[in-house]
Amino acid sequence: MNFLEERIARDGIVKPGNVLKVDSFLNHQMDIALIEEIGREFHRRFVDKPITKVLTIEASGIGIACFVAKEFGVPMVFAKKSKSVNIEGEMFVAEVESFTHKNKNQVIVSKKFLNAEDHVLIIDDFLANGCALQGLISIVESAGATVEGLGIVIEKGFQIGGKVIRNLGYQLESLAIVDAMDPETGKITFRGQSPK
Ligand code: 5GP
Repeated sequence: MNFLEERIARDGIVKPGNVLKVDSFLNHQMDIALIEEIGREFHRRFVDKPITKVLTIEASGIGIACFVAKEFGVPMVFAKKSKSVNIEGEMFVAEVESFTHKNKNQVIVSKKFLNAEDHVLIIDDFLANGCALQGLISIVESAGATVEGLGIVIEKGFQIGGKVIRNLGYQLESLAIVDAMDPETGKITFRGQSPK
Protein backbone atom coordinates (compact mmCIF):
# COMPACT_ATOMS: atom_id res chain seq x y z
CA MET A 1 0.00 0.00 0.00
CA ASN A 2 1.24 3.51 -0.74
CA PHE A 3 1.09 6.39 1.78
CA LEU A 4 -2.41 7.39 0.70
CA GLU A 5 -3.88 3.90 0.60
CA GLU A 6 -2.59 3.33 4.12
CA ARG A 7 -4.34 6.47 5.31
CA ILE A 8 -7.59 5.59 3.53
CA ALA A 9 -7.52 2.08 5.01
CA ARG A 10 -6.95 3.56 8.48
CA ASP A 11 -9.29 6.56 8.49
CA GLY A 12 -11.71 6.20 5.54
CA ILE A 13 -15.32 5.34 6.34
CA VAL A 14 -17.43 3.39 3.86
CA LYS A 15 -20.99 4.73 3.63
CA PRO A 16 -23.96 3.17 1.86
CA GLY A 17 -24.49 4.35 -1.73
CA ASN A 18 -20.85 3.88 -2.82
CA VAL A 19 -19.66 6.90 -0.83
CA LEU A 20 -16.28 6.90 0.87
CA LYS A 21 -15.89 9.49 3.63
CA VAL A 22 -12.40 10.85 4.09
CA ASP A 23 -13.36 14.00 5.91
CA SER A 24 -10.92 13.51 8.79
CA PHE A 25 -7.91 14.08 6.50
CA LEU A 26 -8.93 15.19 2.98
CA ASN A 27 -12.14 17.08 2.53
CA HIS A 28 -13.30 18.62 5.77
CA GLN A 29 -10.39 18.52 8.19
CA MET A 30 -7.26 18.46 6.01
CA ASP A 31 -3.93 16.87 6.88
CA ILE A 32 -1.61 19.42 5.33
CA ALA A 33 1.50 17.22 5.41
CA LEU A 34 -0.44 14.57 3.50
CA ILE A 35 -1.80 17.09 0.97
CA GLU A 36 1.73 18.41 0.48
CA GLU A 37 2.92 14.89 -0.31
CA ILE A 38 -0.01 14.49 -2.73
CA GLY A 39 1.10 17.72 -4.45
CA ARG A 40 4.65 16.38 -4.81
CA GLU A 41 3.41 13.06 -6.21
CA PHE A 42 1.28 14.74 -8.90
CA HIS A 43 4.28 16.93 -9.79
CA ARG A 44 6.44 13.81 -10.18
CA ARG A 45 3.85 12.18 -12.45
CA PHE A 46 3.34 15.21 -14.74
CA VAL A 47 6.79 16.83 -14.51
CA ASP A 48 7.47 16.34 -18.24
CA LYS A 49 4.35 18.35 -19.24
CA PRO A 50 4.47 22.10 -19.88
CA ILE A 51 1.81 22.93 -17.28
CA THR A 52 0.80 26.61 -17.11
CA LYS A 53 -2.32 26.23 -14.93
CA VAL A 54 -3.92 23.83 -12.48
CA LEU A 55 -7.72 23.66 -12.72
CA THR A 56 -10.13 22.17 -10.19
CA ILE A 57 -13.74 22.50 -9.05
CA GLU A 58 -15.00 23.95 -5.77
CA ALA A 59 -15.01 23.11 -2.99
CA SER A 60 -13.01 20.05 -2.03
CA GLY A 61 -10.58 20.14 -4.97
CA ILE A 62 -9.26 23.56 -4.02
CA GLY A 63 -6.96 22.71 -1.13
CA ILE A 64 -5.38 19.84 -3.04
CA ALA A 65 -4.96 21.83 -6.27
CA CYS A 66 -3.19 24.62 -4.33
CA PHE A 67 -0.38 22.28 -3.34
CA VAL A 68 -0.10 20.89 -6.88
CA ALA A 69 0.06 24.41 -8.33
CA LYS A 70 2.74 25.36 -5.83
CA GLU A 71 4.92 22.44 -6.98
CA PHE A 72 4.60 23.57 -10.63
CA GLY A 73 4.96 27.25 -9.75
CA VAL A 74 1.77 28.14 -11.67
CA PRO A 75 -1.62 29.64 -10.73
CA MET A 76 -4.53 27.50 -9.58
CA VAL A 77 -7.98 28.25 -10.99
CA PHE A 78 -11.15 26.71 -9.62
CA ALA A 79 -14.46 26.36 -11.42
CA LYS A 80 -17.23 27.96 -9.37
CA LYS A 81 -20.66 26.48 -8.96
CA SER A 82 -23.22 29.02 -10.05
CA LYS A 83 -26.99 29.22 -10.12
CA SER A 84 -27.13 32.33 -12.27
CA VAL A 85 -27.33 31.97 -16.04
CA ASN A 86 -26.75 35.60 -16.82
CA ILE A 87 -23.02 35.16 -17.20
CA GLU A 88 -22.52 34.27 -20.85
CA GLY A 89 -19.89 36.22 -22.66
CA GLU A 90 -17.45 36.62 -19.81
CA MET A 91 -17.44 33.03 -18.61
CA PHE A 92 -16.78 29.50 -19.84
CA VAL A 93 -19.71 27.38 -18.64
CA ALA A 94 -20.30 23.63 -18.22
CA GLU A 95 -23.05 21.62 -16.58
CA VAL A 96 -21.97 19.12 -13.92
CA GLU A 97 -24.13 16.62 -12.06
CA SER A 98 -23.01 16.18 -8.46
CA PHE A 99 -22.38 12.58 -7.41
CA THR A 100 -22.78 13.30 -3.71
CA HIS A 101 -25.69 15.77 -3.86
CA LYS A 102 -27.44 14.36 -6.96
CA ASN A 103 -28.20 17.85 -8.30
CA LYS A 104 -26.97 19.68 -11.41
CA ASN A 105 -24.83 22.78 -11.21
CA GLN A 106 -23.52 25.11 -13.81
CA VAL A 107 -19.82 25.57 -13.25
CA ILE A 108 -18.07 28.65 -14.53
CA VAL A 109 -14.57 29.93 -15.13
CA SER A 110 -13.87 33.51 -16.10
CA LYS A 111 -12.43 33.96 -19.59
CA LYS A 112 -9.78 36.13 -17.96
CA PHE A 113 -8.13 33.09 -16.39
CA LEU A 114 -7.93 30.51 -19.20
CA ASN A 115 -6.81 31.04 -22.78
CA ALA A 116 -5.64 29.14 -25.86
CA GLU A 117 -1.98 29.25 -24.76
CA ASP A 118 -2.68 27.41 -21.51
CA HIS A 119 -1.56 23.84 -20.81
CA VAL A 120 -3.82 22.63 -18.06
CA LEU A 121 -3.53 19.96 -15.38
CA ILE A 122 -6.97 19.11 -13.98
CA ILE A 123 -7.10 17.98 -10.34
CA ASP A 124 -9.94 16.65 -8.17
CA ASP A 125 -10.37 14.72 -4.94
CA PHE A 126 -12.61 11.88 -6.19
CA LEU A 127 -13.49 10.23 -9.47
CA ALA A 128 -16.81 8.36 -9.56
CA ASN A 129 -18.83 8.64 -12.77
CA GLY A 130 -16.61 11.28 -14.33
CA CYS A 131 -19.13 14.16 -14.60
CA ALA A 132 -16.93 16.66 -12.77
CA LEU A 133 -13.89 15.84 -14.93
CA GLN A 134 -15.90 15.97 -18.15
CA GLY A 135 -17.22 19.41 -17.18
CA LEU A 136 -13.69 20.64 -16.50
CA ILE A 137 -12.39 19.16 -19.77
CA SER A 138 -15.16 20.92 -21.68
CA ILE A 139 -14.25 24.25 -20.05
CA VAL A 140 -10.59 23.83 -21.10
CA GLU A 141 -11.71 22.96 -24.63
CA SER A 142 -14.00 26.02 -24.76
CA ALA A 143 -10.94 28.14 -24.00
CA GLY A 144 -9.00 26.47 -26.84
CA ALA A 145 -6.44 25.41 -24.21
CA THR A 146 -4.78 21.97 -23.91
CA VAL A 147 -5.60 19.33 -21.30
CA GLU A 148 -2.17 17.91 -20.40
CA GLY A 149 -3.50 15.43 -17.89
CA LEU A 150 -5.83 14.73 -15.00
CA GLY A 151 -4.85 13.93 -11.42
CA ILE A 152 -7.26 12.29 -8.98
CA VAL A 153 -6.60 11.56 -5.34
CA ILE A 154 -9.11 8.70 -4.99
CA GLU A 155 -10.63 6.89 -7.96
CA LYS A 156 -13.48 4.50 -7.27
CA GLY A 157 -12.48 1.91 -9.85
CA PHE A 158 -15.80 0.11 -9.70
CA GLN A 159 -17.55 3.18 -11.13
CA ILE A 160 -17.41 4.17 -14.78
CA GLY A 161 -15.52 7.50 -14.73
CA GLY A 162 -11.95 6.19 -14.98
CA LYS A 163 -12.75 4.09 -18.03
CA VAL A 164 -14.58 6.96 -19.74
CA ILE A 165 -11.75 9.46 -19.23
CA ARG A 166 -8.97 7.00 -20.22
CA ASN A 167 -10.96 6.01 -23.34
CA LEU A 168 -10.96 9.67 -24.36
CA GLY A 169 -7.16 9.31 -24.55
CA TYR A 170 -6.12 11.47 -21.59
CA GLN A 171 -3.33 10.71 -19.13
CA LEU A 172 -5.31 10.08 -15.95
CA GLU A 173 -3.29 9.48 -12.78
CA SER A 174 -5.11 8.32 -9.65
CA LEU A 175 -3.05 8.07 -6.49
CA ALA A 176 -5.35 5.43 -4.99
CA ILE A 177 -7.83 3.25 -6.85
CA VAL A 178 -10.50 1.61 -4.72
CA ASP A 179 -11.76 -1.52 -6.45
CA ALA A 180 -14.26 -2.57 -3.80
CA MET A 181 -15.66 -1.32 -0.53
CA ASP A 182 -18.11 -2.90 1.83
CA PRO A 183 -20.36 -0.67 3.99
CA GLU A 184 -21.14 -3.62 6.30
CA THR A 185 -17.57 -4.58 7.22
CA GLY A 186 -15.89 -1.29 6.29
CA LYS A 187 -13.35 -3.22 4.19
CA ILE A 188 -11.69 -1.31 1.37
CA THR A 189 -9.81 -3.16 -1.40
CA PHE A 190 -7.32 -1.26 -3.55
CA ARG A 191 -6.31 -2.07 -7.11
CA GLY A 192 -3.41 -4.48 -7.17
CA GLN A 193 -4.24 -5.78 -3.71
CA SER A 194 -5.55 -9.33 -3.46
CA PRO A 195 -8.91 -9.45 -1.64
CA LYS A 196 -8.75 -11.40 1.63
P1 5GP B 1 -18.13 12.26 -10.51
O1 5GP B 1 -18.39 13.60 -11.14
O2 5GP B 1 -16.86 11.60 -11.01
O3 5GP B 1 -19.32 11.33 -10.57
O4 5GP B 1 -17.90 12.53 -8.95
C1 5GP B 1 -16.80 13.25 -8.53
C2 5GP B 1 -17.18 14.31 -7.55
O5 5GP B 1 -18.14 13.83 -6.60
C3 5GP B 1 -15.95 14.74 -6.76
O6 5GP B 1 -15.71 16.10 -7.04
C4 5GP B 1 -16.30 14.52 -5.30
O7 5GP B 1 -16.40 15.76 -4.64
C5 5GP B 1 -17.62 13.83 -5.28
N1 5GP B 1 -17.52 12.40 -4.89
C6 5GP B 1 -17.74 11.32 -5.68
N2 5GP B 1 -17.65 10.18 -5.00
C7 5GP B 1 -17.33 10.52 -3.73
C8 5GP B 1 -17.09 9.75 -2.53
O8 5GP B 1 -17.16 8.51 -2.48
N3 5GP B 1 -16.78 10.46 -1.41
C9 5GP B 1 -16.70 11.81 -1.40
N4 5GP B 1 -16.36 12.40 -0.25
N5 5GP B 1 -16.92 12.58 -2.51
C10 5GP B 1 -17.25 11.94 -3.66
